[in-house]
Amino acid sequence: MTDFADLLRVAPGAAVDLAAIDPRSTPGFDADKAAAHDELKDLRGELEAFQERFWAERERSLLIVLQAMDAGGKDGTIRKVFTALNPQGTRVTGFGVPTEEELAHDFLWRIHANTPGKGRIGIFNRSHYEDVLVVRVAGLAPKSVWSRRYDQINDWEATLAAAGTTIVKFFLHISRDEQRERFQKRLDDPEKHWKFSLGDLEVRTQWDDYQAAYTDVLARCSTADAPWYVIPADRKWYRDLAVARIMAEVARRLDPQYPPAEDDLSGITIPA
Ligand code: AMP
Ligand code: MG
Repeated sequence: MTDFADLLRVAPGAAVDLAAIDPRSTPGFDADKAAAHDELKDLRGELEAFQERFWAERERSLLIVLQAMDAGGKDGTIRKVFTALNPQGTRVTGFGVPTEEELAHDFLWRIHANTPGKGRIGIFNRSHYEDVLVVRVAGLAPKSVWSRRYDQINDWEATLAAAGTTIVKFFLHISRDEQRERFQKRLDDPEKHWKFSLGDLEVRTQWDDYQAAYTDVLARCSTADAPWYVIPADRKWYRDLAVARIMAEVARRLDPQYPPAEDDLSGITIPA
């Protein structure tokens, strides 16, 4: 049987044509939005139960990477899917423009400092991939520097995997038109102005450059240890469902176990 995840996973080394993946499509799902919401509810319950066992087992780590164009839905995905996980044992880390101290180190320094320890789940809202995306498109480092980072990233992720970290990477794929609509909604609603900056418009003019940069990320950094998934994300309900389904498949595969009790507890009752 083909797993759902197989539909959206980028095969290692495969060329990816993002223009050929319709952001409004719903691969592997042909029911309606209401059915998707029902299923998401069940999957959230499954993820919650998984995390309790993962935390109790405390043997392995799980790292989730979220990348997307602006307004691509990273925050929404965290709110709709990953809040199913208990904050005790889960941490979201957002990566913005590097600080002076961060820039004084190698690009993986701040990233590595935020990887999850055993029993923990780390969620990256942006990540080390910005160092081959915005850095490349905006010319923040010379090509001789960023072009070596794909291999450096693969090596680093392999190091984490060898130490017991499962890595799952999601690219939330929206259309240029959907971004326009979401930006316009932010502009029309004063309570959403904080989410918008004029810089976002400049980045939007570089849309094709970013799509090309993402194409290289997907082709060069989807590995058996740390696969990329391209999630058609114009329809938020499908995006949430797809991410939750893939996470549930990861959870079933990891199948963490409660550790045995430290002492023999048989026949013990709590004295009054
Ligand atoms: P936001 O996600 O809206 O809070 O924005 C974070 C900003 O930080 C985005 O514009 C990113 O492109 C930027 N950013 C993240 N990582 C880096 C990096 N390594 N170098 C430069 N800019 C970055
Ligand atoms: Mg932003």
